[in-house]
Order: sequence, then C-alpha cells, then structure tokens
Amino acid sequence: MTEIERHSYDVVVIGAGGSGLRAAIEARLQGKKTAIISKSLLGKAHTVMAEGGAAAAMGNVNPNDNWQVHFRDTMRGGKFLNNWRMAELHAKEAPDRVWELEHWGALFDRTKDGKISQRNFGGHEYPRLAHVGDRTGLELIRTVQQKVVALQQEDHREFGDYEARLKVWAETTVTRLLVQDGKIAGVFAYVRETGRFVVLEAPAVVLATGGIGKAFKVTSNSWEYTGDGHALALLAGGTLLNMEFVQFHPTGMVWPPSVKGILVTESVRGDRGILLNSEGKRFMFKYIPEVFKDKYATTPEEADRWYDDPDNNRRPPELLPRDEVARAINTEVKEGRGSPHGGVFLTVVGRMPGGAEEIKRRLPAMHHQFKELADVDITSEPMEVGPTCHYVMGGVEVDPDTAAALVPGLFAAGEVAGGMHGSNRLGGNSLTDLLVFGRRAGMGAAEYVDALGEDRPAPAQEEIDRAVAEALAPFEREGGENPYAVHAELQQTMNDLVGIIRTEEELKQALEALDKLRTRVANVSVQGGHGYNPGWHLALDLRNMLIVSECIAKAALERTESRGGHTREDHPGMSAEWRKVNLVCRLAGNADDPRVELKRQPMEPMREDLIALFDNDELKKYLTAEELPAEAKDAA
Ligand code: FAD
Repeated sequence: MTEIERHSYDVVVIGAGGSGLRAAIEARLQGKKTAIISKSLLGKAHTVMAEGGAAAAMGNVNPNDNWQVHFRDTMRGGKFLNNWRMAELHAKEAPDRVWELEHWGALFDRTKDGKISQRNFGGHEYPRLAHVGDRTGLELIRTVQQKVVALQQEDHREFGDYEARLKVWAETTVTRLLVQDGKIAGVFAYVRETGRFVVLEAPAVVLATGGIGKAFKVTSNSWEYTGDGHALALLAGGTLLNMEFVQFHPTGMVWPPSVKGILVTESVRGDRGILLNSEGKRFMFKYIPEVFKDKYATTPEEADRWYDDPDNNRRPPELLPRDEVARAINTEVKEGRGSPHGGVFLTVVGRMPGGAEEIKRRLPAMHHQFKELADVDITSEPMEVGPTCHYVMGGVEVDPDTAAALVPGLFAAGEVAGGMHGSNRLGGNSLTDLLVFGRRAGMGAAEYVDALGEDRPAPAQEEIDRAVAEALAPFEREGGENPYAVHAELQQTMNDLVGIIRTEEELKQALEALDKLRTRVANVSVQGGHGYNPGWHLALDLRNMLIVSECIAKAALERTESRGGHTREDHPGMSAEWRKVNLVCRLAGNADDPRVELKRQPMEPMREDLIALFDNDELKKYLTAEELPAEAKDAA
C-alpha cells in the first residue's frame, strides 16, 4: 500500500505568488493554522517576474488621480466586461495595499519630494504604477515573504515552533482537491524531491495558482503555469468564467529562438519607447480604435509632448491597451513590414533625456536581459519584439467580496480568479489585484472556517485512493505516449488555431485536435523513479492544460464578437448584446472522462452610482440601448 503523510490545517493556500502569500498572511492574522503549498521553490512565482509595477491611484505624481479614474480605466481596458464590483474594490483598496507593503518594508522608487514614485502604463490615464526600477515583483515577493517569516518568528516566541500556524510546503504539487458531501475537505499532493504523497486536510482551500501560459507555444510564462488551479476548481465542481479572454502581450522577445516569448516590459513604452516597422515608420498612429480616438495623440509631436505635459496633450498610441497594440503588431508583420525575425522594432535609443545612463537606470533588467540573451545593447540598438501569450483574464468564478468559489470552502485569488479584468487586463493591475483579493480570500476563508465550527468535512479514503491511482497511472502504462511530444502538439495547436486572431473554422479544427489529444493524454507513460521526475510531472500537468485549452477553444467559438483578448476575424465588431453575457464552463458527464460544458450567463447590471462615473457618449459605445441611463436613452 502507498504510504501517505497526513496533516491538518484550517486553511490551505495553493500557490506562493503574491496572491497566495497575501492570502496566507491574512488567514494567519485571523488566527488560522495555515499551509502554503508551492509547486516551485518559495520565491519563484510569476509575481517575482513582474517588472513594470503595481497600479494604485495614490495620486503621488498627478494629484488628479483617484479611485474613480482608476475604476474607469480598468473598465475601459476590460471593454466593460469586468465584474464591476471587483473593479470597484480593486480601485478603492489598491492604495492601502501598496502602503501596507511599504509599512512591511518594501522600498519603492521615490519622487523628488520623497513619495512613492508612479510611472505611466498602457490604458492608465495618469502615472499610476508604484515601482522598483523594472523589478517590482521581486520587491513585492521579498516583502510578503519577509512578513511570513516575521509571523513565524512571532509563533516561535509564543508556541516554540516556527511552523505552529504558518507552514510552507515548497516544491509540492497539488493534483486533486478533496471534496466531501459537496464541501472542500483538503488537498492531495506530491512532493517533487521524493515523489511521496501528502494529504493536507482543511475545510478551506484558497487557489492562488496563477496562469495557463504553458498551454501555448510562445509565452512569457514559466514551466509552472499549466492551469492547475483552473482545472482543480472544475474537477471539484467549480466553474470558470470567460476563458476565451487570453492576453497576448504585444512585446515578447522574438530572437534568438531559445528565448522567444520572454517578456519585454511595457515600462519600455511607458518610459518613451516607440514601435517602428521595417520601413522605420512609427505605425501605432494608424491603429487607434474608434472608442479611444479622443484620448490618444494623432501625431508624433503631440505624443512626445505628452511625457512632459500630460495635461495639455493626448497619450502616445504605443500606450493603448495591450490587446490593441498586439493586434497592430500582428498586422504589421502579416502585411510584410516586420523585422528580420518576425516582430517589429521597439526602441529607446535617443529617447531619454539622460541618454544611455538613464536607460540603464530606468530599465536595468531589460538592459541586462537583451545583452545576455540576444547580444543587443538597448542603449544603442532597437529591440525586436512580437506578441506572446502572457495572462489569462478568464478564471474561477468567485464572489467579489469574499473570493468564494461555487464549491463551499473553495476560494480563489490572483490570476486564477476570473472577472476582475474583463476581456483585457491593464498592465500593473495584476500586482494590486493579488494584494487586494489575496487579502480578501484569506479573510473569506477564515470567516468560512469560523462559521463551520466543529463540523468539518473529512476526506474519504476512496477519494484519496483514486488520487493515488491517477497520479501513479503514467508509470503503469507501457509503451504509451511521450508527455513531451503530446505537450508540444497541444502548444502548437493552441498557438496556431486559438491564438491572437481566431476564426470559426480554425476553432472547430482546434476542438477536433484537442479531442484527439484527450486520448493521447490519457495514454502518456513515463519511466524512472518518483523523485525529481520531470517527465512524470509533465504527464500530470497535461490533464490540466488539456481541460483549460478546451475551455478556451469552446468559449472562443461561442463568442461571435471581438473584444479585448478575443479577436474573431469573422466577427470583427464588438457587440453590445454580447457584453451582457458571461460564458461559464463546468465539467459534466462521466467522472472518469468529464467533458467541458459551456453556458451563457447574464451579466449583472452595473450599479447606478458607478454608471454615473461615465459620460453618456462613452456608455453608448459599450451598452445596449435598454441598459443606458434614462438621459442617455433620451439623447440616443
Ligand atoms: P503566481 O505568482 O503565478 O504564483 C502561482 C503559484 O502557484 C506559484 O507559487 C506556483 O508554484 C504555484 N502553483 C501552481 N500550480 C500549483 C499546484 N498544482 N500545486 C502547488 N502550487 C502550484 N503584472 C503586473 O501587475 N505588473 C507587472 O509589471 C507585471 N509584469 C509581469 C512580467 C512577467 C514576465 C509575467 C510573466 C507577468 C507579469 N505580470 C505583471 C503579471 C503578474 O506577474 C501575474 O499575473 C501575477 O504575478 C500572478 O500572481 P499569482 O499570485 O496569481 O500567481
């Protein structure tokens, strides 16, 4: 019989990025015995890779900024498909979460008068991103990890045990949520180093597992981002919202091939970088869409004046939301005006008043990245860049205030949660999303545990046995498929058929290909021992990537309009009718071979005081006639 270690907690948090650590801190502050599980080493999460900064309307650089402006920008960026309550909570609470970080020891860059400095970013009306050079995520993670250690030291003083109320399970991967009588009862996981299995019993679980990028071939995401949390939620009976919305960041490296997809931060454009095609033309002026026409400069002269005089000039079109810039680059390349390696040029050469030294000071990580990986000196040469799969807006359907998912005891925060960013996330909004909703998820989980009292569900042995059998199955199949080959085919399918521009025909082809891949995923086999066996781990991750890919392709086929991170060549317009619709995925059918089922769910109408924050002329671009406020209807 397989030996299984068992432990018991109040709250288990899956993921040690910004949202997971913030959730765990909150659960522990509420007095709950909390475990943090991380597939990779502690400190190595996507959050650490975040470069540009954390968006919060603190008004340090432009005092006109406030939560209402931030809310409007977020809704516009998401093309009004955002869960407006989440966007409201985020805009209101983000400044407090950034100040809290500072209170816990984060050292942000400063303005001349000593305030936290804030930089410009795409889609944000005012300079809003609190940052530490282009290494903001590193500082965020360092700070919350330090807070975890401080709490562990407190517990050591009180209980003589550092891990009495906060334990980190590093390099441990959850493969199943355990559910009893419809409620969360714990998690099943394996430890990478030894391959041994563990069951952590807990009535509340917070999913904070990040994104899904590894389902695509060209991505800025690293190996851990295989959609585990999304799939775990579905397998436990939860639902996913609007999975068709995948963000392709406009600027990933395109050369050399070994680094294709690695991110080139938007700060490059926020700090005066411009995009040029092979003819040397600053092409973004051509691509300003109708809904943004009055907000973006139409000449290079006005765009350049904006950096020093934002009150009297409109923004450069390089700072349009990401979906717009990514599509523009795609078109330039497709129409034959691309760079030698299939991207376009992004340059800061001669653009900063302080010359090469200022470039190195403001963009140290980018300078280092291009020098080391591509032998390009960005102080004297342009970068070659192109779109890369970066972020998933779709995710676990949650209650905005408590982060509770549909399954009692399950919570989700950060990139794995859906709703907050609508059809397109603004840069910088993720880091504050992690902090705002990480805290709320920790609080929601603690309150749920309190309400449950002594009546805690216990995991059933048969369910644990099934999880063991599922995890060991790849060792038991002889002569099956190679997981790496199956993964490569899945990624190619998603890249080619469910990528940045989509059509009905290609999406149907994708669903057929994914159906065939289902049989192959079920037949992957691996060899070797259980300790540090990457082939085995990939074999287990494939289940999750396949489920998530099916959700994305199905929802993309269903939504016959183009909005944010979902562009249908055969349905190019944005439809006010579709804005009222959320697409919700769940698993249905045979538990051993479940299928993704898709449902249209009406969007809850926006609260009146929030609608009143927008001009009627703008609302008419997004809402149906019957949704418009009375005076706008009259004028229409
Ligand atoms: P992550 O930080 O991705 O952490 C996920 C955690 O879950 C990890 O610890 C992982 O090991 C764990 N995990 C996953 N699956 C399992 C499992 N099965 N079992 C156990 N553990 C598991 N956003 C901004 O706002 N500003 C920026 O400047 C910015 N720059 C970015 C730059 C890059 C290169 C990238 C990739 C993203 C950037 N983003 C930025 C986006 C942002 O960093 C991410 O969306 C955010 O960090 C996600 O945080 P998270 O807490 O949801 O998850």
